[in-house]
Amino acid sequence: MANKRDYYEVLGVSRTATQEEIKAAYRKLAMQYHPDRNPGDKEAEEKFKEVAEAYEILSDPDKRRRYDSFGHEGVGSGAGFGGFEHVDLSEALRLFMEEAFGFGDFFGTGTRRRRGARATRGSDLQIKIKLSLEEVASGTRKKVKLNKLIACPACKGSGQRKGSKPTICPTCHGQGEVRQVSQSLFGRFVNVTTCPQCRGEGKIVSDPCPECRGEGLVRGEETLEIEVPPGVATGNYLTLRGKGNAGPRGGPAGDLIVYFEEKEHPLFVRHENDVLYDLYLSFPQAALGADVEIPTLEVDPENKQLPADDIHRYKRVKIHVPPGTQPGKVFRIRGKGIPELHGYRRGDLLVQVKVWVPTRLTPREKELLEELAELENVKPPRKGKSFFQKFKEAFNI
Ligand SMILES: [Zn+2]
Ligand SMILES: [Zn+2]
Repeated sequence: MANKRDYYEVLGVSRTATQEEIKAAYRKLAMQYHPDRNPGDKEAEEKFKEVAEAYEILSDPDKRRRYDSFGHEGVGSGAGFGGFEHVDLSEALRLFMEEAFGFGDFFGTGTRRRRGARATRGSDLQIKIKLSLEEVASGTRKKVKLNKLIACPACKGSGQRKGSKPTICPTCHGQGEVRQVSQSLFGRFVNVTTCPQCRGEGKIVSDPCPECRGEGLVRGEETLEIEVPPGVATGNYLTLRGKGNAGPRGGPAGDLIVYFEEKEHPLFVRHENDVLYDLYLSFPQAALGADVEIPTLEVDPENKQLPADDIHRYKRVKIHVPPGTQPGKVFRIRGKGIPELHGYRRGDLLVQVKVWVPTRLTPREKELLEELAELENVKPPRKGKSFFQKFKEAFNI
């Protein structure tokens, strides 16, 4: 899995390729590497499977989005973080038939469904995890308690009363699917659909388990620890294979889809991977210059009990504000923003200067400011119009 090639590279398309471009690229490559054209050529077979897998992911908008966000492995390498599955040769051939010639529908398969009887899959579960910006910056682990359907302990998920046996479905004789043959202008068509009586399972519960009424499922709880990689954003999600609801009567479990949501931060605003911070200076500081401390997103372990809006909660960096700094000026502190999801770069911390205007003044302070206000260099320039005024006039606003 680790040295898989990028799917866009495999198909030779750009990351912004349209569905049509992806389809065209897949068709061309699949034709080129098809085993019928390259008998006995192992390398071509590998390439054929590789393009099938890339196409399988990139042609599905959902899977493509997930791949764009999290890369090959879904996320992380911890247990339960399934990546995208590997496509084997028979699946690759089936995909080729379906996509290149539209044969899939002739067999009534629509989607790439494995043929024959099989257990019903459990449904997917979705949860949302809220993250602070500090957690986004550093990555974190979150414990979640899930209320979900689990296999019934009384019947071990079979749905069958203890000691009894299920019966073979009389409609499909255990095949899980029914065939209908029809004649048309183009010849004979065989339409295969899932058996309605057993829902494709091939067998039916003869004597239902009293605990779960034959479903094989009961409500239960599971606690999971979820590893959140650094750099996620609202709307990113993670798919945990097989962590959703258990399947009825022993069927495979669905997936757990974990959505991330970023909470608002009292000090910082995220802009992509950069972080904006408003630095308030007093008028004398802006005029005379000053050395000031800027909080970063890294929490100082010794001060982590402080509230989120206290700058002493965070590790700080010093910057020098030169004399005569105007409000609106932005200082860029490189590499102190959010790390790229699965990348090596980090955004920057952008510090914008604001000038603090006092709102409550003692008589003495007032007196001093009045005196200051009379000084020539403290007044805004008298000559000419400001750029802003000229701008406003030029655009009639
Ligand atoms: Zn049961
Ligand atoms: Zn059946």
